[in-house]
This record gives sequence, C-alpha cells and structure tokens, in this order.
Amino acid sequence: MKQAVLVLNVGSSSIKYQLLELEPAGEGAREPGARLATGIVDRIGGEGAGTLTHKQPDDPQPYEVSDTFADHEQALAAVLGAFRDAGPDLAKIELKAVGHRVVHGGSEFIQATVIDDAVLAKVTEMIPLAPLHNPANITGIEGARRAFPDVPQVAVFDTAFHQTLPEAAYTYAVPSEWRERYAVRRYGFHGTSHEYVSRRAAAILGRPVAETNVIVLHLGNGASVSAVAGGRSVETSMGLTPLEGLVMGTRSGDIDPAIPAYLQRVAGLDSAAVERELNRSSGLLGLAGSNDLRDVNKKADAGDPAARLALDVYRHRLRKYIGAYYAVLGRVDAVVFTAGVGENDPRTRSQSLAGLERLGIAVDDARNESTADRGERFISPDGAEVAVLVVPTDEEIEIARQALGAVS
Ligand code: ADP
Repeated sequence: MKQAVLVLNVGSSSIKYQLLELEPAGEGAREPGARLATGIVDRIGGEGAGTLTHKQPDDPQPYEVSDTFADHEQALAAVLGAFRDAGPDLAKIELKAVGHRVVHGGSEFIQATVIDDAVLAKVTEMIPLAPLHNPANITGIEGARRAFPDVPQVAVFDTAFHQTLPEAAYTYAVPSEWRERYAVRRYGFHGTSHEYVSRRAAAILGRPVAETNVIVLHLGNGASVSAVAGGRSVETSMGLTPLEGLVMGTRSGDIDPAIPAYLQRVAGLDSAAVERELNRSSGLLGLAGSNDLRDVNKKADAGDPAARLALDVYRHRLRKYIGAYYAVLGRVDAVVFTAGVGENDPRTRSQSLAGLERLGIAVDDARNESTADRGERFISPDGAEVAVLVVPTDEEIEIARQALGAVS
C-alpha cells in the first residue's frame, strides 16, 4: 500500500491541496516526494460558481467540476469526491498525516504541531492576529478531522521558523502594555518557504546548514526577506502582520506609522479603511495599476512612467533590505531568490543587486537571463565571494516533511 501525506492550504475563498507520496530516504526513513494529485477549489462562499480542478501527474486532462461552493465544508466534500471519481483512491492509500498550513501561530508555536483540541483552541485564540487567515485554516482543520478521523492532523505555521529571531530583532520600540498585554511584536511569515529555501541553498553550496548564512528573498504576490544564520531565522521583514517590509502585489510594505492617523485627520479615513487600502490597494497595484509584475514590466517597457516608478520603488526597497540584512549577518554565503518574481524575473534580480560589488555580490548576466534552466541554479559568476542563487520554493513539500516529522 502506498503511503502519503495530504497537504491542505485553506484560504478565505480557496482550498489548495496536494497528495505527496512518501519515498524511501535510506535507513527505513521515508520522505515526501512525488505528487500523486494536486488541486484547487476557488470562489468558495462567493457569488456564482467556483471551480474545482484536480490533476494527477499522468492525466492528459485535469478533472474539473464547476459548482457553487457555499462554504469550506462543501468544498472539502467536493475534493473528496474528486479523489473518489478521478483517483487516486484514498481508501487504497495509507495517509500518515494531513499537514495544514496555518498562518499565525503567535509566540506559542515554534514548530509543526499535532493538532488536538487544546492546539485548536490556541489557534482560535490567535484569530485577532490574523483575522482573515486563521478562521479559514481552522475550518479546514475541522473539516479534515471529520473526513479523516483516524489520521493525525498537523499544523505547520507560517510564523514558526521565525520564532528564533533574537529579542532585539523581534521587539518593537513601543509601550510595554502593548507588547505584554497585546502581544505586539514581529512574528514574520512565509516561514515554510524561508526554511525550505535556506536549507536547499546550503545543500547547493555543499555546506552544512549550521555553517551557512543566507539572505532569502521570497518575492511572490506577498513578499518577504529573511536573514538565516546557521539554519535559524535571525531577521525578517514581515511583522505582526504580513503588511510590513517589502513592496508587494497589493501591500505597501513599510510606511511611516503616522500615516494612518494623518489620513484620518485630513481624509476622514478610519483605521479599518486605511488598513484595507494598505493591504489591498497599495504596492504595485497602487503605484502602477496592476498587482502582477509581468503587467507592470509590460507597461514600463511601453514607457508608462507610473510603471517605471513602481519598479524603481520595488527594487530600491529590495536593495535596502539586502544591505541591512548583510549587516545583520556579518558574513553572507548566498543571496537566494524564490517565488513567482524571484524565480522568473531576471531584471528584478539584477537591478536589486546592482552596485553591491563591494559586498562581494555580483550577477552573471548570461546565467541570470537564461531561460534554459528553470530549476535550482547559480546566477553569480564562478568564484564569486557571495553566491547568488535561484531556488524554486516548494512549500507543500516542506509542509509534508514537517507534518511527517511531527508524527514520527
Ligand atoms: P503567490 O504569493 O500568490 O503564491 P507567486 O509566487 O505565484 O505568488 O508570485 C506571483 C508573482 O510572480 C506575480 O507578481 C507575477 O507577476 C510574478 N511572476 C510570475 N511569473 C513571472 C514572470 N515570468 N516574469 C515576471 N514575474 C512573474
């Protein structure tokens, strides 16, 4: 019988899932490897019909269902239906764990954790820290517990990897009551990606993780940087929420914290409205009218000044963080690009590193621009003091790996 881990990433209006087969990894150990199935359900709880798309590696055509998914419960039932109708048959697979992506684990959760009622209660207590994400994650956990009552459910937190931040890095200089009573501090996100990518970087360099220092640039729709010293996150750009730090698709990243109060005075915007706009209408969208970097690139190439400015702001912010995190680490072995923009946009990579030669950082143009290899690769010249790498992220593999680790 095949063994597998099911990874569930339940968002406010979507469910993404992957079934990963466990493969031999020497000495009787097994690790997540090949995808047996991947899928997504979108527009859950929205107006009109959503779509479930379910793929198996050898299927020429994905299995698709269009339906109104009134809530997550119904969507999860449809996912089970897809496994029943299109396969693989879950009854013929030994599920070792269901790994749930959970966005906010606060200071409580420093690693992947098997879910029981007490864990679920704590994740529920953290809803004020992640009001959009944690409720959806909880719905997914409750549904999966009902669907797979005999399989251990494991929470893998976006925040956990950054729980190693030193106090000096995670503390905001704000009144003690805010910090102590309301848990105001830096938490950081995208932890599974930063962990996976930093570990891969050490492997690519052929060095022990414990002796490798890297700066990881996770540049997707959401974007964050981390400084990872010897496998431990020591600084990261997202904060109490994912709003802080880099310029993102629709989020502003860093701004003067006095701006919301200013806008309240001059524009009558309440804090909820400002928060919404900073999360949904800012970033590349606010600057250039599109949150998709490919569109912004096209507009900039066509001479649109707003798009050019957006790219300049985006890359300037990146360069500033790279310099700052270099100072935090002292010695940097690699700068690593990952996620949609990091993996696919050579101009962002070269321009965010431009002028950093004194730090030992350089990009080989031919390597950077080559589209022949889309996998893990060096884009720095041979013999460079600091390696510059592209490492495709794989959050599902990492969630499966950690879920398996938590139950074995
Ligand atoms: P998410 O955070 O939603 O998982 P992704 O990691 O998929 O996001 O990244 C999405 C971003 O990656 C978008 O801004 C998109 O424009 C960008 N992207 C994807 N492919 C390319 C490409 N070929 N060139 C430039 N940007 C790209």
